Amino acid sequence: MSENIRNTDHTPLELEEAVRILQSEARRIRDTLVLPVRDAYEFILAEDIISGHDQPPFPRSPFDGYAIRSEDSLGASKEKPVLLKVLEEVDAGDWPKRSVGKGEATRIMTGAPIPEGADAVIKQEETDYGEELVAIYREMERHQNYVFPGEDYKKGALLLKSGDRLGAVECGILASSGLTRVKVFRKPRTAVISTGNELAVPGTPLSEGKIYDSNGMTTSVQLEEWGCEVCEMLQVPDVPEICIEHIERLKDRVDFIVTSGGVSVGKKDIMHDVFAALEVRSIFWKVGIKPGAAMLAGKNDNTLILSLSGNPYAAYIDLHMIVRQVLSAITGNDHLEMIRQKAVLNDPYDRPSPIRRFVRCFVQDGRAFLENHIGGNGDIAASRHINAVIDIPAGSDALPAGSEVTVMLL
Ligand code: AMP
Ligand code: MG
Repeated sequence: MSENIRNTDHTPLELEEAVRILQSEARRIRDTLVLPVRDAYEFILAEDIISGHDQPPFPRSPFDGYAIRSEDSLGASKEKPVLLKVLEEVDAGDWPKRSVGKGEATRIMTGAPIPEGADAVIKQEETDYGEELVAIYREMERHQNYVFPGEDYKKGALLLKSGDRLGAVECGILASSGLTRVKVFRKPRTAVISTGNELAVPGTPLSEGKIYDSNGMTTSVQLEEWGCEVCEMLQVPDVPEICIEHIERLKDRVDFIVTSGGVSVGKKDIMHDVFAALEVRSIFWKVGIKPGAAMLAGKNDNTLILSLSGNPYAAYIDLHMIVRQVLSAITGNDHLEMIRQKAVLNDPYDRPSPIRRFVRCFVQDGRAFLENHIGGNGDIAASRHINAVIDIPAGSDALPAGSEVTVMLL
């Protein structure tokens, strides 16, 4: 083990400390690229977006009806309608030719510009739908049903800021600003390696003693969901040389490599030998959490190597508790930060927790449900339908139903 390791005596690091150290080691991604808005979905914006025009750009009608001068409607009612002369019809996309004078109205459709002179729009349901003369059935106030230019946002308004993640709505905002291309940060590039002699590649037959690799898939998909580009996903046997070869090949092409398995203390826990042979600067080994305690982290030149525990639930916890936070530091995407909140245990948790423990649960209306989610660390299916984990502090006894707990939303 390298001398640079933070916890040389291998006393497990506190989770927050491990995250903090890794965040300081992670290189912030600053390279940007310009993409068509259509392709920029899920990227992080690398520029502020300032509106170049008022939205809407003109006074706009929110209804189908008649643009009128409100003072002309004084005293109008169903019984005593006021008659106005209809000048023209303006549909959405048209531009009015006439301004509305005393005793006049313009037939207008939703989204169309309100002509000069008019200061209100009366809904067509409140008229007789007249074509040359229209009878209006109610009084209107000045600026009633009148959408001002810039009512949604003004020219010069900050619509989106650098660091915002581009979801569907944000892409729509870019389009509504008339933009076709946008500057975004490059996605972190990653590679995912699953280690284990027992691992079979999905699609091949399962021979004796083998299981299919699930960590590789969960990790890759999760990283993509968190805004990474996963360049490669591969399986290697417990042969350090093979793993070393792949890491050497990949390390200059990616920002970080995530491996799983082989980080404990068994004979086949190869990652220690891999780190030593590659002269990886070890950052830490072991974190004070259960599951996922055996995580190993190091840096090889500029590339972080994050080696997660092998058991699928343990790898999942390392991924969320640690890798996710590292990513948040690399990309500046605050949406990746964990949200903690209080909840009341709906079901008892009947084991003591000498080490800080994360327990799968489903949180709804302030209650944490454990049922159906309690499974072994090897059980990936128990992670379905969860939306949080309970963060049980080290030294806790079994928790009866009704206990107040802290949950971390996933
Ligand atoms: P390890 O940490 O390599 O000792 O693995 C711990 C347990 O997790 C063993 O039962 C492995 O078979 C299982 N495991 C390791 N890697 C994976 C993987 N990629 N997919 C599914 N199970 C795995
Ligand atoms: Mg293994």
